[in-house]
Amino acid sequence: LLYCDHSASTPPHPDVIRTITEVMEQVYANPSSIHQAGGQAEQLIRRAREVVARALNVHASEVIFTSGATESNNLAVFGTARAHAIDGKPRHMIVSEVEHASVYECYKQLGREGMDITYIPVDKNGCVQPEQIEAAIRPHTIMVSVMHVNNETGSLQPLAEIGSVLSRYPKVSFHVDGVQGLGKVPVDIRQWGIDLYSLSGHKIGGPKGSGILIRRREVPLKPLLYGGKQEHGFRPGTENVPGIVGLAKAIRLAAEGQPSNYEKLVSLRERALKQLRTLKPLVNNSPDIPLAAPHIINISFPGMKSEVVVHALEERGIIVSTQSACSSKMHKPSRVLLAMTQDTSRASSGIRISLDASCSERDIARLTEAFTEVTEQLRPLMKR
Ligand code: PMP
Repeated sequence: LLYCDHSASTPPHPDVIRTITEVMEQVYANPSSIHQAGGQAEQLIRRAREVVARALNVHASEVIFTSGATESNNLAVFGTARAHAIDGKPRHMIVSEVEHASVYECYKQLGREGMDITYIPVDKNGCVQPEQIEAAIRPHTIMVSVMHVNNETGSLQPLAEIGSVLSRYPKVSFHVDGVQGLGKVPVDIRQWGIDLYSLSGHKIGGPKGSGILIRRREVPLKPLLYGGKQEHGFRPGTENVPGIVGLAKAIRLAAEGQPSNYEKLVSLRERALKQLRTLKPLVNNSPDIPLAAPHIINISFPGMKSEVVVHALEERGIIVSTQSACSSKMHKPSRVLLAMTQDTSRASSGIRISLDASCSERDIARLTEAFTEVTEQLRPLMKR
């Protein structure tokens, strides 16, 4: 099997599996308990928090462990809206049209609840223009959400530029869904002025059901859950100790590996695209480097249904996906590709190949060979 669906989920790193197993076997007390075993669990969380803080160059008190990026994004969006809702004054929020469902659907819901929201379109590369963000800001704007790397196309958003615009509006929080960026492209939370930053464990060789939200100090936020005082009160509930320790390890490995991963992935991407571009009728939906992260390639074969291509590849042992895993079962044109291309046929035929630095040149050869066979097999059927 050749797995090229790393943006949907990644195989856990062997060190992560080992660490999680050890913690599950040995450190099972409640970290809030006052006995020594509880203290040992608490110590593991403290150390994991420091590992994450060091890897992301933030302060340990800014790290909130969650159950995954969906929760982190919900906490960022609804938690910010709530923090400002105290005096009942109307507020305004800004979000890009290409966000992952775990951000986009929060905004849709806030809109239904009466929040004033501006959706920012993207250009043909899938990128937001910082000037459009600035033009949308109003006196009562409380937050801007723009993701780092798009999970369907790999489009890279100009976060440094957006951060520089937002530095002139200190009351506006800057929220970034960083899930697809960490370990693949550089990120600088401080330098770019990011106030709220979400990550997911299972996209970087960590466990599923683990994530973080970085909340820079003083940034207004209210919790979504109420209970104990865990995670500085932002995320009550007994901590997932093995998950947290495994996640911290995965974040450290991803951050350390980023520069070499980038070089390797750029070369694999170029190799794959060189071959794929010879296939007909191919349309490349991902922008070129440096406007895209190197690990995601999104292509369409207009006239060939993406599900049919994906299943034909699977018969040859190649695993790729249509759209993102979270929306692929809806059988609707991709919202992201529609926002980029306004072309329903292209948006219905997108195929996502998502690589990992563990892929080899031989894997790419196998992948492109399979694509060649499948498109040759399907082309006559198109003409009928
Ligand atoms: N944001 C992006 C960009 C993603 O790709 C995903 C995973 N599909 C998520 C958020 C949600 O992460 P999780 O699966 O940890 O809830």
